Amino acid sequence: MHTPINLVVLGPPGAGKGTQAVEFAQRHVIPKISTGDILREAVQSGAELGQRAKATMDAGGLVEDELMIAIARERLNRDDVKSGFVLDGFPRTVTQATALDEIMTGRGSLVVVDIAVPDDALVARLARRRVCGQCGHATSLDPTVEARCERCGGELVLRSDDTESIVRERLRVYAEASRPLVDYYSSRPTFRAVDGDQSPAAVGAAFSEAVDAILAGMPAGSGIPEEAGA
Ligand SMILES: [Zn+2]
Repeated sequence: MHTPINLVVLGPPGAGKGTQAVEFAQRHVIPKISTGDILREAVQSGAELGQRAKATMDAGGLVEDELMIAIARERLNRDDVKSGFVLDGFPRTVTQATALDEIMTGRGSLVVVDIAVPDDALVARLARRRVCGQCGHATSLDPTVEARCERCGGELVLRSDDTESIVRERLRVYAEASRPLVDYYSSRPTFRAVDGDQSPAAVGAAFSEAVDAILAGMPAGSGIPEEAGA
């Protein structure tokens, strides 16, 4: 039996976390579970949890820990996660991380990879991001060059929430919330940080290498790292 890959991806907004999560999940044929997706699904299902989440989001609020945990627990108890999963956007707080450990009891260790990118690099990256006004295709370009969408010829526009002050505020909020979360995981032998300030392909390679290194430390089937297993 294969050791399930129970992977949590951490990283600031704009670090390319979603892209890495999708690619890894496809390569290992395990579901990629993002908070956005499970919230959307919960809302669409019309179930009680989804209705509560929708009320919070409609009011412009962040879905609170208790509700987020209940939704994640429901998702992680489905059959399709038996051989593993990639979590993107959960946990976001130490309370959620503690609950995730409890949900995972007896199901193998969590592998946690943090994609680290300095704020200035993220701001520079987002300043180059343009979105097609017609088809929504996202691209990166030199802000001094005028260009059209390579897919449909539409006009490329800067997203209103990509301006520097908004990006810096988003990063500040993220750093405040995530520092305790990284502290929570970083002493574990199943945690690695990778340098996210390089090309997506190079980040992908570093990411896979980090996961492989963690899995190599776990005896097959037990899901418990050797260093921590004695
Ligand atoms: Zn377009």
